Amino acid sequence: MAASAARRRRPSREPGEPSTAVSGVNGWQDDPGDNVPPTVPAELRPVPDLSIAPLRMRIDATPAPAAGAYEPGTPEFRYWSAAEGLARGAAFWRQFLPEGTTWQPGEELRVLLDEGVDFNAFYDRHALNFFHGTAGGRTVFSGESPDIVCHEQGHAVLDVLRPELFDAGSIEAAAFHESFADICAILAGLQLQSLRVAILSDTSGDVSRSSRLSRLAEQLGWAIRQMSRDAVDPDCLRNAVNSFFYHSPEELPARGPAAALSSEPHSFSRVFTGAFFEALAGGFRQPATPTEVDLQKVGFDLARLLAAAVQAAPVVPEYFSQVAAALIAADASNGGKYRNVLTSAFVRRGILSAHAAVGMTAVQAAMPLAAARAAVAEVASSRELPHLALAGADYGLGDTPLLVRAASEPRRLVTAAAAIGVGSISAPSSERAARAFVEDLIQRGHIDAGDHGEIAGWIVHPHTFKTHCLVKSENGFVLSRILFDCGFHPHMVG
Ligand SMILES: [Zn+2]
Repeated sequence: MAASAARRRRPSREPGEPSTAVSGVNGWQDDPGDNVPPTVPAELRPVPDLSIAPLRMRIDATPAPAAGAYEPGTPEFRYWSAAEGLARGAAFWRQFLPEGTTWQPGEELRVLLDEGVDFNAFYDRHALNFFHGTAGGRTVFSGESPDIVCHEQGHAVLDVLRPELFDAGSIEAAAFHESFADICAILAGLQLQSLRVAILSDTSGDVSRSSRLSRLAEQLGWAIRQMSRDAVDPDCLRNAVNSFFYHSPEELPARGPAAALSSEPHSFSRVFTGAFFEALAGGFRQPATPTEVDLQKVGFDLARLLAAAVQAAPVVPEYFSQVAAALIAADASNGGKYRNVLTSAFVRRGILSAHAAVGMTAVQAAMPLAAARAAVAEVASSRELPHLALAGADYGLGDTPLLVRAASEPRRLVTAAAAIGVGSISAPSSERAARAFVEDLIQRGHIDAGDHGEIAGWIVHPHTFKTHCLVKSENGFVLSRILFDCGFHPHMVG
């Protein structure tokens, strides 16, 4: 082992060895995609530094390979391409975090690049976890894709900004976590000049078109299609260019094919991601002759507004419309440069009803964003939402209540999503939202009930992926989130 480790440090051209002297590392522009060899080859990038605080990170690898431009397909390449994506994402978000913030797990976030066989990746408040799996005769490593790496990092970044969302008993809050993570992957891509230039060429300057920027995790999407043909989009895992219109998630089925909107958080997240991507494309079009520099600028501007919005928007059942309204308010307090592209994108998706959007002008004047942030800070000092007790008998828990963290922060800003017919819809109560959230998790088999002997009536799904667990407390069973994943479970049935 020592001899092979020593060999890896030499910049020679043996398999797995750096292909040039150590002037940088190799990395993908975005996801490696499903072509062999990849359509866009790996590129040389500056050696990334994960030790910068805040948002310091550490990839678990003993020994860590020496920096170098390794050949794709080698563990050394995967290490450095993941490090490059992580460093790029961290450098981007570091600009928008309040002073003194750290990761939820502490000063340093661990990264476990290959935790065994699965078609998945997840953030569990301990580390970012990645896996590998074989499909169609090919082995795919989720940690090799900058899209997936930056998606998982995005969950951790949102957990820095709004830890209350981690355990919120609300479909929209969970879906927003997925949307924010996908947006992080898109914005991290925009930090590469080579990708910006390529996207503008591929889309003839119309960023609203489907492109490598909007298509997320093409390679993992391909692998998943080999096993489950309708579980993901035909050309990627999820596409930010889509035409989904808002519908109350409480009224949607808990599962569905990728072509339909379901209340499953990754599926439902596409409504918000689609609107954000349209706003990005619209913002890019604002200068008379926009260039790749403008594309980076609009990404920077919208990320800054988004970071402000998630800190200001109360965690309530109609969370999408609250974040949308807070984004528009954040922009208004910053000169209103993106007012039209933001408002129109959210209205086109039904995230804001036309009525609510018209009312935003008055709201902005009445309630500056700083006041909203202060209001949230006032009630959110514990950084956890209050528990709501649901009748345990409904879930096979007998007389023991089920405690769920309710999306119930006070609203300072009245807003609403569009009804499918006319007008706005009324948001469900926090309790109804919590019940819908729990029922969805039960229908998809995502709750690990453990071996509590007294749970006689619990519906056990033996082989499904668990995102939540039940923790016994003196007041009842507490529903606790274990992790956010990137969204596919090959063992859904069983
Ligand atoms: Zn995710």
